[in-house]
Amino acid sequence: MEEKDCIFCKIVRGEVPSKKVFEDEKVYAFHDINPVAPTHILIVPKKHILGVQTLEPEDECLVGHMFYVARKIAEDQGLAPKEDLKGGYRLVFNVGRDAGQSVFHLHLHLIGGRHMGWPPG
Ligand code: AMP
Repeated sequence: MEEKDCIFCKIVRGEVPSKKVFEDEKVYAFHDINPVAPTHILIVPKKHILGVQTLEPEDECLVGHMFYVARKIAEDQGLAPKEDLKGGYRLVFNVGRDAGQSVFHLHLHLIGGRHMGWPPG
């Protein structure tokens, strides 16, 4: 998928509408159109990267930033784990079709607001 045809690049550029949660110079975060939990937010880099499977050494800081942004959004959404061990959220990268990846632009799922089982399906 080339950058010009990529749905998440179009969202980042404002060509496709999205429900924005957060934006800075490196990342854009928005509500998933098909949520699997009460909170389901996607954090995507503005740079077009196909997925974890094509990460380069130069992307290491960017991926770390995605996790930090996810943590801050989770706190803003009231999802941070509490001292009594209640609360919490899941951060997921699906890598490749067998793992459930359907959009080939790197994205971190932030999912929360309900209990989640393990192992995932
Ligand atoms: P994955 O299956 O891991 O590649 O995740 C892709 C996610 O993108 C899915 O959860 C979709 O529901 C979501 N998605 C696809 N198109 C859009 C869109 N236009 N706006 C918001 N979320 C989208």
